[in-house]
Amino acid sequence: MILVTGGTGYIGSHTVVELLNNGYDVVIVDNLSNSKEMVVDRIEAITKRRPIFINGDIRDREILDEIFTNFDISCVINFAGLKAVGESVIKPLEYYQNNITGAVTLLEAMRDHKVYNFIFSSSATVYGDPVSVPVDETFKIGGTTNPYGTTKLFIEQILQDLYKAEPKFNIAILRYFNPIGAHPSGLIGEDPNGIPNNLAPYITQVMIGKRDHLNIFGKDYDTEDGTCIRDYIHVCDLAYGHVLAIKKLMENPGVVIYNLGTGKGSSVLDVLHAFEKAYGKEIKHEFVGRREGDITANYTKVDKAFKELGFKAKYNIDDMARDQWNWQKKNPNGYEE
Ligand code: NAD
Ligand code: UDP
Repeated sequence: MILVTGGTGYIGSHTVVELLNNGYDVVIVDNLSNSKEMVVDRIEAITKRRPIFINGDIRDREILDEIFTNFDISCVINFAGLKAVGESVIKPLEYYQNNITGAVTLLEAMRDHKVYNFIFSSSATVYGDPVSVPVDETFKIGGTTNPYGTTKLFIEQILQDLYKAEPKFNIAILRYFNPIGAHPSGLIGEDPNGIPNNLAPYITQVMIGKRDHLNIFGKDYDTEDGTCIRDYIHVCDLAYGHVLAIKKLMENPGVVIYNLGTGKGSSVLDVLHAFEKAYGKEIKHEFVGRREGDITANYTKVDKAFKELGFKAKYNIDDMARDQWNWQKKNPNGYEE
């Protein structure tokens, strides 16, 4: 049985679908601070299997003890955490408290219950502003520009230290690039609170009429069309990467680190055009100044994840845009009824 923390969230829910479809049993623990319990029904509608859902916080040791006592957990995937970059600058303590205390409490409970396989949701943000692109897993990490990114960096260090002291642990650190898109069924997807910070949900809210236009942050970057480059990956591809990571951990590899992306850099305008293709018309947009902290380009080499996990993304940005628009159209207000 796999314990998925944050399993009703965006990436977590898609991963639970992949796990159930691949024959794993799943227990979700989520405090619903950024998701809805209805996600569990949607997961069941897609997979015809129902994960066990526990409404709880990963900082609550009692709940964790109960879970590890009642279920035979072979691996933990830790998605639970706060993730809004801008908010983390305003509320650093909440971010350190939730993300770091959460991870440490979870790892303590795992150690005490002798559960040693752990997958951690890290981020491309740990590379800071990389000296060159594409980045690979040997690039120096550090230089994060906000508390959110720093929580990822610190937790990676905590995991390295833990492994040194307790080599029974097997740990996969997965550094995600930019997950977008939604399950092709349109039943689950990203449901941001308030004004979206990220590009793709902002675009679909313009498409659905909730926002007037997209502001494109900067047109004078040193790139072909002047807008920033990122490595967008379909959330279903990313989700499947976790199934492969579980298989890898069964080989007792110790600590392993993989970048998960497509290996292809796309500009903001490339993404906008992919959504326009899905929409069949133009999407209103304006160029505005650069957003503080944005880096020009970040995309990954895919060789290591391919060689060691067999990971290869199968969707392109047109697929991502089509599926995210499908989700938004079918759920104009997200999971709100
Ligand atoms: P999300 O907010 O949709 O999902 C996180 C889930 O964790 C939510 O359902 C929330 O209710 C839950 N949660 C938060 N704190 C909790 C706690 N203390 N106890 C129990 N549940 C808690 O976010 P997501 O986009 O699915 O991201 C999942 C993970 O991947 C996060 O750790 C995030 O930092 C990381 N990540 C996300 C991205 C991205 O672009 N979405 C990129 C890189 C890394
Ligand atoms: N972006 C934009 N307008 C928006 C949101 C994002 O132009 O409303 C740009 C942003 O400057 C960046 C890219 O889109 O170049 C991806 O931003 P996002 O916040 O989704 O991801 P991240 O910056 O974390 O890679």
